[in-house]
Amino acid sequence: MTPKIAQYLAVQAPATPCLVVDVDRVEERYRELHAALPLARIYYAVKANPAMPVLERLTSLGSSFDAASWEEIELCLQAGARASDISFGNTIKKVSSIVRAHAAGVPMFAFDSAEELDKLARHAPGSRVYCRILVENAGAEWPLSRKFGTTVEHAHALMLQARELGLDPFGLSFHVGSQQTTTDAYEAAIGRVGMLFTDLVQAGLDIRMVNLGGGFPTRYREDVPEIDEFAFAITRALTAAFGNALPELLVEPGRYIVGDAGVVSSEVVLVSRRGDSSQANGGKRWVYLDIGRFGGLAETEGESIRYQMRTPHDGGRTGPVAIAGPTCDGADILYERSDYRLPLDLASGERVELLSTGAYVSTYCSTRFNGFAPLAEHYI
Ligand SMILES: *Cc1c(COP(=O)(O)O)cnc(C)c1O
Repeated sequence: MTPKIAQYLAVQAPATPCLVVDVDRVEERYRELHAALPLARIYYAVKANPAMPVLERLTSLGSSFDAASWEEIELCLQAGARASDISFGNTIKKVSSIVRAHAAGVPMFAFDSAEELDKLARHAPGSRVYCRILVENAGAEWPLSRKFGTTVEHAHALMLQARELGLDPFGLSFHVGSQQTTTDAYEAAIGRVGMLFTDLVQAGLDIRMVNLGGGFPTRYREDVPEIDEFAFAITRALTAAFGNALPELLVEPGRYIVGDAGVVSSEVVLVSRRGDSSQANGGKRWVYLDIGRFGGLAETEGESIRYQMRTPHDGGRTGPVAIAGPTCDGADILYERSDYRLPLDLASGERVELLSTGAYVSTYCSTRFNGFAPLAEHYI
C-alpha cells in the first residue's frame, strides 16, 4: 500500500467496499517498465483498468494503448490518446467495431484466423495486421492460452494471405498468460516467434514487428521476479533470435502497470464458526467481507489470484479461515483451500484491506447482483 493510499484511507475513511488507486504509482510502474525495456513501445492493456485518470496519466507519459473493444478505443480517445497510438488487440471483433476503429484512424489490428482476416480486409482495408501465435502459458496464474492464438504453421499461411488481401502484414504477437511468474515463458515464446518471423522474411514478406504481449506479474501473496529479470531474459532471447536486426517491439502490460497501485477497502460483515470440527465444514472460521467474487474479485475463481490482506490486528495471533463474499451465491467464496490465516481478534464491522487490487477488479464488478451497488472507485 502506498503512503498516499494509507493516508487517504485513514483520513477520509471512504465507505466500503471501495477501490483506491494511487495514480502516481501507475506512473512509476510505467517508467520502470520503460527503463527496463527501452526498445519496446508500451501499449497499456486498457482492460486491466480503464479509469479515465489512469488513461490520462498514461497518455501524458506518451503511452500507447491496447484496446479490446470499440468502447475502450473511445475511452482512450477521450483521454487524449491519438488514434495512431491505439492497437485493436482483440482477435475477436464485431464488424461494427472494426468499421468504427478504422474510420477513427486506428492503424493496427490483431487476428488469429482466416475468418477474422477476411473481416479486416473488408472493413479496415490496407491496415496493419498482426497474427497472434499460441504459446505455452505454463507459469501463468491466470492463463489465457486456449481461447486465442494459432499455430506457427497456420500463422505462416495467414500472414501471406494478409498480403494477398491487400492488408499490411505488420507482425506477430503472443501472450504468455497473465500473472506470468517465470521468465522462461517469454524466452520460449520469443524463440518460436523468431523462427516464424525469419521464415516470413525469407518468403519475401515485409514483416517488421514483434508484440511481446502482457503477463508481467504483480506481487500478491508470493514473491515474483523483478521486471529487470524479465527484461534481461527477453533481451537475451531477442538477441538469440534476431541478432542485431531487431524488429519493432511492442509490449502490452496491464496488470504490471496498475496492479499494485490499488487497494480495496472492505468491511467484515460476519465472522462465524458453523458447527464443530466433526462436521463437514470442519468447524473452520469463516470471514465474510462486503466484497466478493461478484463485487470485482473475479480472479479469485479457482483461488488463482491470492491477494494479501491487512487488518487492524496484524501482528496478533492468527488462525485458519475461509474467506467469502456477501452474496447469497455458493460460488461467492474467495479462499477456502489456500491456507489463509487472519487474526483471531478480527470482528464484524472492522476493515480489511486487500492489497494490489488495482488490476482486473473495478470492471469485473457485477452491476446489482443481490442488490449490492457496484464497487466505488477513488483515484488519488
Ligand atoms: C489482457 C491482455 C493483455 C494484458 O495482460 P496482463 O497480463 O494484464 O499484462 C495484453 N494483451 C492482450 C492481447 C490481452 O488480452
